[in-house]
Amino acid sequence: MRVSSRQDIPAARRIVVKVGSSSISGENAHQIKTLVEALAEAHGRGTEVVLVSSGAMATGFPYINLTSRPTDLPTLQAAAAVGQSRLMVRYQELLDHSNIVAGQVLLTSGDFENDSTRSNAALAMEKLLELRVLPIVNENDTVATQEIRFGDNDHLAALVAKLVNADVLVLLSDVDGIYTKPPTVPGAERIELVPFGHLLDHVEFGSIGSAGVGSGGAGTKAAAAQFAAESGTAVLITNAALVASALRGDNVGTWFDAASE
Ligand code: GLU
Repeated sequence: MRVSSRQDIPAARRIVVKVGSSSISGENAHQIKTLVEALAEAHGRGTEVVLVSSGAMATGFPYINLTSRPTDLPTLQAAAAVGQSRLMVRYQELLDHSNIVAGQVLLTSGDFENDSTRSNAALAMEKLLELRVLPIVNENDTVATQEIRFGDNDHLAALVAKLVNADVLVLLSDVDGIYTKPPTVPGAERIELVPFGHLLDHVEFGSIGSAGVGSGGAGTKAAAAQFAAESGTAVLITNAALVASALRGDNVGTWFDAASE
């Protein structure tokens, strides 16, 4: 169905929700429950829900005795290998309360460029959704090199939204949407609506990730939102704490209109 405003979100057929590392780890670790409850509510009313979740690395850091984010790729990859399974266990334990089964899907950018792997991934996602499984997608960090890494999954989420023809992509962050300036700067205002084709050239983007565990930011989110909008998926960028309101269609975050068909 065509989702042309936030109010249409509860009626959407298929939704992709993306959450970043800083929203579900460290002092925000409790938010994973809020997120899962909101996803379960949407799933329960018949919406097909795909979650794109970062957080493998951030979850893995303490298990390999790291107190902050390392800079070298092999250590980041080791942290992701350790953290990914822990992260999935956390999700599945919370989803069990709603009798929802999760399916882990790990993808690299190369998988989207190659016709056969892209179409295999699309078929697998269709089957998972048909089976009422909730796919949880992350980058396959152990095989992604520095040059081709997606980083904090904003672009991966936009590619997944395109892959599954999602009606809406919800990008969750620790800020409620895109602001005219970094939100801590006086005078910064939330942008409520970005009409299709609007370039956001008046926006002053700040630096990445507030908690020092992730690698995305407002700039990567806006770019991912514009990519998804061009592919026909409307986008809402909002605060992870507001996910339940967002999925109920409340007036939160920044809405990006999709290209008309
Ligand atoms: N795929 C990574 C993860 O889940 C992305 C996060 C990052 O680069 O910090 O941990």
